[in-house]
Amino acid sequence: MSKLNKWQWAMIIVGIAGTLLYSTMFDSKPISGLMDYAPYAIGGIVLVIVFALVMPARYCPNCKVKLPKLRFPKNANEALYGWTTCPNCKTEIDNHGNVVRR
Ligand SMILES: [Zn+2]
Repeated sequence: MSKLNKWQWAMIIVGIAGTLLYSTMFDSKPISGLMDYAPYAIGGIVLVIVFALVMPARYCPNCKVKLPKLRFPKNANEALYGWTTCPNCKTEIDNHGNVVRR
């Protein structure tokens, strides 16, 4: 298991904090069904997206193209470790900005 970097930890913390904040602001009734979790999930997701957008942009180390801040993970490494695939040259980049595979 790879260690999470500080940004990933920050995102998790912000997500949890946002979820708790959101729940205290908008939800005062007890949870009775699965749909009652929707506001929590939405609050957490929105905060994670906002956090991702305020993060500094990353650039591809191979072709110097600006990488998208929001991405949909295409494999387990991207989902778990924050890897990114360059949309221009398809280089795989890890969460420290190092080339993993060309
Ligand atoms: Zn590239």
